[in-house]
Amino acid sequence: MLNVSRLQVRYGGITAVRDLSIRVDEGETVLLVGANGAGKSSLINAVIGLVPASGGSISLKGADIHGLSCERRARHGIGYSPEGRHVFPLMSVRDNVLCGGFRLSGAQQRASYDWLASLFPMLAERAAQPAGQLSGGQQQIVAIARAMSSRPALLLLDEPFLGLAPVWIEQISRAVRQFQAQGATILMTEQMAVPALKLATRAYVMRGGIVTREGSPAEIREAALSNEYL
Ligand code: ATP
Repeated sequence: MLNVSRLQVRYGGITAVRDLSIRVDEGETVLLVGANGAGKSSLINAVIGLVPASGGSISLKGADIHGLSCERRARHGIGYSPEGRHVFPLMSVRDNVLCGGFRLSGAQQRASYDWLASLFPMLAERAAQPAGQLSGGQQQIVAIARAMSSRPALLLLDEPFLGLAPVWIEQISRAVRQFQAQGATILMTEQMAVPALKLATRAYVMRGGIVTREGSPAEIREAALSNEYL
C-alpha cells in the first residue's frame, strides 16, 4: 500500500529523517515507536505532503505521490489525524467530522457519520456543539473521526494517545479495532508504546531520524522493556 524509500526530511540545517525506508502492506497496522524528536511526525508529514521530502521516494498503491499536494494525496485515499488533536474550534462536531469526507456525496457523508457515531457515541451526543468546547479526549476523537470519515485506503494517526486519560485511549483503541476488522490499513506513531503495540501488526523503532529496529509487536515490546520508549 505505502512504500517509503530512502526518505530525507530537512528543516534548514536540521536533518529530521535520514535515508529511511518503511512499508505498510494492505490490511496492516504499522506502528512507529520512538521518543520525542525521533522524527516520527516528520515522516508522517512527508507522507501526507505537509513537509517536502528532500530525498527519496513515496509511493501509494504503486503510484509515486512524491510531488503531489496534500489535497491530491487525500484524494488518492490518505486520511490524516495530526498530533495535538487539531479541530476547528468554532465549527460543530458534526461539521468537523464531515469536512474530512469532502470527496463523498451527501448521502455517503450521512452514512459515514452514522457509522462513526456507532464507533464513538460522543459524536451523536455532541453533534451540534462547537468542537472547541470539548475536552482533550473528545477533541482527539473528533480529529480521528474526521480522518476516518472518508474511509481512507491508508489512515495516518500521529500520536493518537498523547496526553489522554486511559478511558479515551480505550475508546479510541476499540474504534481502531473495528476499523481494522473492516480491512483498514493504518500507519500510526506513538511514544506510548504499550497501548499502541496492542493495535499493531508490525512495528518500527525510530531514533535520531532512522529506523533502529523492525519486528512483531511481541519482539518490539520485549526490546522496549530495556529502553526509554516504553
Ligand atoms: P514528537 O513526538 O516530539 O513530535 P517526533 O518523533 O515526531 O517527536 P519530529 O517532530 O519529527 O519528531 O522532530 C524530529 C526533529 O526535527 C527534531 O529534532 C525536531 O526538533 C526537528 N523539527 C521538527 N519540526 C521542525 C521544524 N518545523 N523546524 C525545525 N526543526 C524541526
